[in-house]
Amino acid sequence: MENLPLLGGVEAGGTKFVCAIAREPDQPLVEERFPTTNPDETLARMVGFFRENGPVSAIGIGTFGPAELNPDSPEFGRILTTPKAGWAGADLVGALRAEFGDDSPISFETDVNAAAVGEAKFGAGQGKANVCYVTVGTGIGGGFLHERKPIHGRMHPEIGHTVVPDFNAEFEVPNPGSACPFHENCFEGRASGTAMARLWDQPATELPADHPAWKLEAKYLAHGAMNLTAAWSPDVIILGGGVLQQESLIESVRTEFAAIAGDYWDNLPPMTEYLVTPGLGQQAGIVGALCLASGRA
Ligand code: ADP
Ligand code: ZN
Repeated sequence: MENLPLLGGVEAGGTKFVCAIAREPDQPLVEERFPTTNPDETLARMVGFFRENGPVSAIGIGTFGPAELNPDSPEFGRILTTPKAGWAGADLVGALRAEFGDDSPISFETDVNAAAVGEAKFGAGQGKANVCYVTVGTGIGGGFLHERKPIHGRMHPEIGHTVVPDFNAEFEVPNPGSACPFHENCFEGRASGTAMARLWDQPATELPADHPAWKLEAKYLAHGAMNLTAAWSPDVIILGGGVLQQESLIESVRTEFAAIAGDYWDNLPPMTEYLVTPGLGQQAGIVGALCLASGRA
């Protein structure tokens, strides 16, 4: 075990950063969490963590986005045009390379692709080649491993902005419209934790399991999962993020999915194996970031 290289991982979130070191990606030896404030302060804490706990042989980063993942781009390693104040252009990879050298091995991925990697290696996606990981929290994001490799595309997918119908009118509450400032009927705008809080006038954490909010949420998540099934043909869809901590939700999503998908996909795995919650719980992102580092070490 002592002979294994020391790996570094960063889960860079819009609310908090998690930094860790490990020899085995699923067994972090040291882990530190701190709030995401301004880039100067936050990136200095990230660099300081690896200065104190290193040296590491490679670092994997799973970041909130949008971010530049293409190593051939001059913007590689930066956050792109985020509405998050001060963060547009923030240079995560640059901050580490300024401290540890220009050729430090760093893997830079989206937070959701990192979580998909972690789940594929150690969690609910083990043994599967095509793994979709969706987080339903403050927003909605999704990562996808196609034949075990994270897909990027021109930028990277943003499945939170795929279209879903507006089902709010089926429930007798004033409809506040979409929580997404850009789109009226997108997945994130209707089904994120933020959208739930807007519609029901209380945070999702306060809504009891028998509240009608959860039936509506299950319907939106089932439509999101059907869109992903149609577009990406995954072997498994892992639904994580704070909102899925409502334990009754996943079974309702399976029921709704079976109802709307009809007989079209007659070769899907059983719903209990196809729509699942993360095997690594809240650790998927940081374990995935450490897996990305191990691929570079
Ligand atoms: P983020 O998306 O900011 O990384 P989370 O994944 O924790 O953070 O998602 C936060 C959202 O999840 C909030 O909208 C919150 O209300 C909701 N949430 C957190 N815990 C629970 C819970 N136990 N039950 C239902 N919703 C929850
Ligand atoms: Zn949107």
